[in-house]
Amino acid sequence: MSTIKLLFLFTFFSSLILGYGDGISGKYPIVVSTWPFVEAVRAAWRAVDAGFSAVDAVVEGCSACEDLRCDGTVGPGGSPDENGETTIDALIMNGVTMEIGAVAAMRYVKDGIRAARLVMEHTKHTLLVGEKASAFAIAMGLPGPSNLSSTESIEMWNKWKENGCQPNFWKNVIPLNGCGPYRPKSANGFSEGGYSKANLMGVIESRSSHFGLHSHDTISMAVIDKMGHVAVGTSTNGATFKIPGRVGDGPIAGSSSYADDGVGACGATGDGDIMMRFLPCYQVVESMRLGMEPKLAAKDAISRIARKFPDFVGAVVAVNKNGVHAGACHGWTFQYSVRTLEMEDVEVFTVLP
Ligand code: ASP
Repeated sequence: MSTIKLLFLFTFFSSLILGYGDGISGKYPIVVSTWPFVEAVRAAWRAVDAGFSAVDAVVEGCSACEDLRCDGTVGPGGSPDENGETTIDALIMNGVTMEIGAVAAMRYVKDGIRAARLVMEHTKHTLLVGEKASAFAIAMGLPGPSNLSSTESIEMWNKWKENGCQPNFWKNVIPLNGCGPYRPKSANGFSEGGYSKANLMGVIESRSSHFGLHSHDTISMAVIDKMGHVAVGTSTNGATFKIPGRVGDGPIAGSSSYADDGVGACGATGDGDIMMRFLPCYQVVESMRLGMEPKLAAKDAISRIARKFPDFVGAVVAVNKNGVHAGACHGWTFQYSVRTLEMEDVEVFTVLP
């Protein structure tokens, strides 16, 4: 055997035994999730530890978060849009087959991850949207139609309206009264509708207020099961006060999450409108495929975004096939949760920007 092969084998086996990087776990299974969504990780762990597949465990974990309405920003009852409605974005990916199912801006159905799984396993499509996604999910047996609003989301929405519909996601527009309808602002400051500059009511363009420390809108979870197979899933009710029809990064493969059985997986959270332009999770997995450690791959994906959008807030968490995990973030302190065989319970890791 050549020296190079021997060196490769030594490195490979010592990394399996010793691990390296930020967080280390020698063996499968492993569950990794954005944020301290501890109950969700416990639910996924119960499934994967009992021998269920990575896909099953992702569904159990994300579904638990939807039922618990983690942080009020996963599942029903959170993040009202400009009309006060809560909608759901979700995605699941099987890293063995590279099959993906996703739903976007789904109305009236609270079970995002289960709907995504139905798309993956019972259609040849990848992404269904809006009311048609709801009709599909209900026809395939999920409960609905249900009202996805809650007392809290309606209260939040009422306060937002009282505050002149600020903050919001519009730019370069002239509103009638602070709230819509809006008209595009022309180069000379006037809209075609004839509203003058004087009528421009402080349209806030700072995005960070939407994605603050207390609006962790997304669970992105990666699982490696006992067979070493990888799956990821994402579920979110998106951005608070989004323009109706907005779809975030949640259902976009390679953005909110990505998995490849031969490499590992990645989950993301943060300003999805910005992040989806860079497919950070695809970037992380491809960097790891080329030999980067998870920590470096995560940092690299985040800095590619920060270079162009220094004000964005977001984070990714990466896990490779050796069970090495790491996170990177920008604009906020990020936490992610992990459960492995070596841990007695879920552990939460903190990553500073
Ligand atoms: N990425 C989510 C979105 O933009 C929000 C979040 O993760 O905080 O819809």
